[in-house]
Amino acid sequence: MQGNRNKTFKEMNPSLLDPNGMVAKPRFPKPEIQQIDRRTWLTWVATGAFAIWTELAFGFGRRGWGIALGNVDLAMGLAEAQTQDPVKVLRVITEFVNSYVLVRGKEIAIVDTGLPNSGAKFGEVIKTAGLGWDAVGHVILTHYHPDHVGSIGEVLSVAPKATVYAGAEDIPQIKSPRTIKPVADGDEVFGLRIIATPGHTPGHISVFDPVGLLLVVGDAMTNINNKLSGSNPQYTTNMAQANESIKKLAALKFEKAVFGHGEPIEQGASAAVAKLASTL
Ligand SMILES: [Zn+2]
Repeated sequence: MQGNRNKTFKEMNPSLLDPNGMVAKPRFPKPEIQQIDRRTWLTWVATGAFAIWTELAFGFGRRGWGIALGNVDLAMGLAEAQTQDPVKVLRVITEFVNSYVLVRGKEIAIVDTGLPNSGAKFGEVIKTAGLGWDAVGHVILTHYHPDHVGSIGEVLSVAPKATVYAGAEDIPQIKSPRTIKPVADGDEVFGLRIIATPGHTPGHISVFDPVGLLLVVGDAMTNINNKLSGSNPQYTTNMAQANESIKKLAALKFEKAVFGHGEPIEQGASAAVAKLASTL
């Protein structure tokens, strides 16, 4: 999927065009709908014009469907405008815990802030992306445990533009110099979808990039020594709820998963999570 990031919409969908770059004859009877990429569907109508339905999920703070009627160039231009780059994920390791720097273009969202006194480590990783602290627009905290929020003060002190977010139930437990904005299941931050995954803590959240098919798990699961496991019972508020959250994550389709504790799963991550969920 990542290989598509620099391709145009037309290059990604050659079957829609004939060798001259013109629109091919519809190969399917009207008004059948064909999925032409992850979130864009195209349907031909009788007049030779067609409608394009595209999920307006990103950047507008709401989910819905938009419809445009017109010629192929209009529709393809629209589809291209709606296609957002996936985030690039960089890991920040502070001893036994991972935090993440998610980069899209010249903007950054940080997920978790690691152990205390880790601000400089974040700075180094941001630098490897060719950016500085002023690129950090968002800091998302998966949950209140001290190994995930330890450097929130340090990070916010050098990221003046950043808004900080966490699940509402966890916010009272987090000491932050800036007011934390509560987020709920289905909310969107930086084009990323918040998935409520309570159980590990009451307000635990995971973060999903539906374009890059990436899941930032937090502590809803661990992958220590590449062994995918449920929420660590030793630190879990409600185990039954934590297991339900894993089943919920198993219903999503994603390729890559990154964890608060353990190694990333680079490929086939949702299949692995579904397998784990079937044992719970
Ligand atoms: Zn935790």
